[in-house]
Amino acid sequence: MGILVIEDEEGLSEFIELELKHEGYEVSTAYDGREGLKLALEENWDVILLDLMLPSLNGIEVCRRLKSVKDTPIIMITARDSVMDKVLGLDSGADDYLSKPFAIEELLARIRVILRREERRNDPQTLNIFFKDLVLNIESRMLQKEDQLIELTKKEFDLLYMFMKNINRVMTRELLLEHIWGYDTEIETNVVDVYVRHLRNKIDPMNKEKYIQTMRGMGYVMRE
Ligand code: CA
Repeated sequence: MGILVIEDEEGLSEFIELELKHEGYEVSTAYDGREGLKLALEENWDVILLDLMLPSLNGIEVCRRLKSVKDTPIIMITARDSVMDKVLGLDSGADDYLSKPFAIEELLARIRVILRREERRNDPQTLNIFFKDLVLNIESRMLQKEDQLIELTKKEFDLLYMFMKNINRVMTRELLLEHIWGYDTEIETNVVDVYVRHLRNKIDPMNKEKYIQTMRGMGYVMRE
C-alpha cells in the first residue's frame, strides 16, 4: 500500500511518515505542491494526504488538477477549520478532510475507511455501491434499503449513481446535467432539482436531506 504525503511542515511530515511506516504502509513525501502533483501523476498511490496550504501550488489546485486526470483517493489536511475551506476542499474533489491538529489514530482510521472503500470499488465481482444503509446494484439497477427494494427510473438511477460514486463531493447542477442529460442539452438546470426531489421521495420521504443534502447556491452532495 503506497501513501504519498504532500506536506510542507517537515516535522509533521516526518511524524506522519514514521507512523504510517510503523503501520506497514510504504510512504513517500513531497514538500511543495508542484513536486507533490508531479509524484501524484507519475505513480499510482493508494491514498494521498494533501496539505491545503502549500508552497508553489496550493492543495486545492493540486487536488483539482490530479482529479481531472485520475481518481486517486485524497485526504485533505488543513490548519484551518472553517466551513468554507471544507467545502472548497471537498468541492475540488478531495475524498475526505482532516483539520490540524489531529490525532494520528484519527488519520489512520480515515485511511483505512478509504482503502476499504477502494477495495470494494475495484473488485470486479462487486457490482454494488454502498452509502449508509443504501446498496445500489449496478447490474440490476435496483436500489436496496434495508430489506426494501426500490425501483428507480433510468435517470433516477444515473443521478443516484453519480452521487454514490462521488461521496463528499459537491455536485453542481451543471455537472449533473452534463453527465446525465448530455452536453448539448436544452433542458433547464431546474430539471436536476425535480429529479433530486423524485429521488428523495423514493429513498427517504420522511427525512428528505438525510442522504442527499442541498448546498445552497452550489448543488447537492451525499456526505459521509
Ligand atoms: Ca502547510
